[in-house]
Amino acid sequence: MKVLVADDSIVMRRLLESSLAGWNYQVLCAKDGAEAWAYLQSDDPPSLAVLDWMMPVYSGLDLCRMVRALNRTPYTYLILLTARGEREDIVEGLSAGADDYVVKPFDKHELEVRLRAGRRIIDLQSELMHTQEALREQAMKDALTGVWNRASIMEILDREVARATRDSAPLGVLMLDLDHFKHINDNYGHQAGDEALRGVAARISSAQRSYDSFGRYGGEEFMIVAPGCDEAYLISHAERLRNAIDSQSFKIGGKELHLTASFGACALDPELHASADDLVRAADAALYAAKHAGRNAVVYHHPVIAQRLD
Ligand SMILES: [Mg+2]
Repeated sequence: MKVLVADDSIVMRRLLESSLAGWNYQVLCAKDGAEAWAYLQSDDPPSLAVLDWMMPVYSGLDLCRMVRALNRTPYTYLILLTARGEREDIVEGLSAGADDYVVKPFDKHELEVRLRAGRRIIDLQSELMHTQEALREQAMKDALTGVWNRASIMEILDREVARATRDSAPLGVLMLDLDHFKHINDNYGHQAGDEALRGVAARISSAQRSYDSFGRYGGEEFMIVAPGCDEAYLISHAERLRNAIDSQSFKIGGKELHLTASFGACALDPELHASADDLVRAADAALYAAKHAGRNAVVYHHPVIAQRLD
């Protein structure tokens, strides 16, 4: 764990540095408030800081206020070093944002214990942040397949439509639907149905491009948002994904099952699609046409097709 030691006395700095290094902290040293501030507001700030109260440029007290005003996560645990005379001002130090204080000349053991308390707070906070991140991720993913859920993939599409419109860049959307899914459920059970969805999602995930986004739209329907894809590219991309499913059977419930999917494709045309919803509707209409055409097929949406289907 990285700890900043800021003190204008070289003797004190050396003493703190050697003590902290002995307790296996990675020590950064600052000789005044300005140097300390540079470390504290850097992109990779120390988790803990031991700040002398009286220092040139910024005092330890100033630094406490400045760090707290940044209001950043992860938290920086601040320990003020005070001389005896300043001890009565300790309330001021704590209300400025210090977490703890140590009186100079400091007792080594006391400092070690106080640092350990700070470290515990920092560790707990980082655990909490990881948990929050995991929960946030969980809320955005489809529980069965692990790909984006409908709300997330729609949010991604919204963002990509806005970006592509602004930059006049191509953007493609693919809707894909497992063929005869009801048949799998009816003949092999719902667990097999779940396995089929997971298997197809895994195969699409590994066949897609790294900059594609892939989500479960609902039931056995999935959506792929493919930035940079115009009509021709989108069709060949969809063909490749269709083939990834069709070319190799799936092992489901101990049986080899041959699965296929139908694809509806549509590239963004700002003249035709004012919103992400318009684009989804168009790709969905093409998917419907692919089902009609006998399934295991890719159909690109042209306005003509839409007219015929309407
Ligand atoms: Mg000093």
